[in-house]
Amino acid sequence: MHVEAVELRVIALPMVSPFVAAHGTVSTRTAVIIRLLGGEDEGWGECAALPEPTYSEEFVDGAYLALQEQLVPRLLAAGGTLTATDLSSAFADVIGHPMAKASIELALLDAQGRRDSIALTQILAPHSPGPSQHVPAGVAIGLLATPEDLAAEVSARVAEGYGRIKIKIAPGRDIDFIRAARNATGASIELCADANGAYVLDDAKTLAELDAFGLSYIEQPLAADDLLNHAELARRISTRICLDESLTSATVTQEALDSGACSVVCVKAPRFGSWLEAASILDHCAGLGIDAWVGGMLDCGIGRAANIALAAHPGATLTGDIAATSRFFTEDICAPFTVSGPRGSGTIDVPVGPGLGIAIDAATLSKLTIRTDTVRL
Ligand code: MG
Repeated sequence: MHVEAVELRVIALPMVSPFVAAHGTVSTRTAVIIRLLGGEDEGWGECAALPEPTYSEEFVDGAYLALQEQLVPRLLAAGGTLTATDLSSAFADVIGHPMAKASIELALLDAQGRRDSIALTQILAPHSPGPSQHVPAGVAIGLLATPEDLAAEVSARVAEGYGRIKIKIAPGRDIDFIRAARNATGASIELCADANGAYVLDDAKTLAELDAFGLSYIEQPLAADDLLNHAELARRISTRICLDESLTSATVTQEALDSGACSVVCVKAPRFGSWLEAASILDHCAGLGIDAWVGGMLDCGIGRAANIALAAHPGATLTGDIAATSRFFTEDICAPFTVSGPRGSGTIDVPVGPGLGIAIDAATLSKLTIRTDTVRL
């Protein structure tokens, strides 16, 4: 599209309940929403950065500034008809800010899909025989006060249809909690744990105790920049290691696989700075026979729609963080995504309309907006 103006917003969505992980707590999900405008075309994107820089360096207010003062001016200055593949050159001199960059790419992909009447899921998996109609539902459960609280929460989610349950863990809040979760799921539900980098290699004995619970993997046990110790940990425990925060590009992902730092890949397009690169990493993993899945970031409707579209990629071999809107929010800027299906095999429908395949609810968007600016050439 020929981008003439970019509307930036921060929206604030109240969470159903605060989401607690080793890296911090989110009570209100603020997020940057962008809308590209040009002639008859428009495209919507969402920046995955959390309200505070606790998961990665990016955060809502910083991402807004990076978009407003650095990335959007470069996008507008590039001029002409732009596609998503033009962005790497337009942003070549800007270091970092992957989530902000990915939000613009997503908006361009949405615009491309709307113009060409192609669903995002087909753009991301062009060689797939046809878009999947639905993807299996998976949910992440934050740190709760007691193992009993966690067991009750897990049972409720399993009853709703979720076939894969991910439990946030942290030192001192691990073995008893995972045991309670496993007792609540029974053996047939996929269970995994996410430490958000809260452990050190000296915790290997504790982490090895998790081997007893049949987890499909433990996600990001050690610090993001600690690939070699992840490889050492992988030799000391039998549960597979999946990396999330560590994997910032296709190159790093390959290095992590080659070094034995991980054997499962969490694909988060915003962390890679590109939805197209995320899709290519899923292609790559599929070619190597490596299990991969699509992670989430407490996404609002646009990010959730995009993640569901990516999760329909054939390289996403494990169930991802693909949860219903109502798991986190009481309202959203588009129609909510819902889980349907029996215990253990619930699914979420993949949007198959053009682009993101969702309709933005203008009234709700306006009501939830706490800041907005429009950037023009
Ligand atoms: Mg994670």
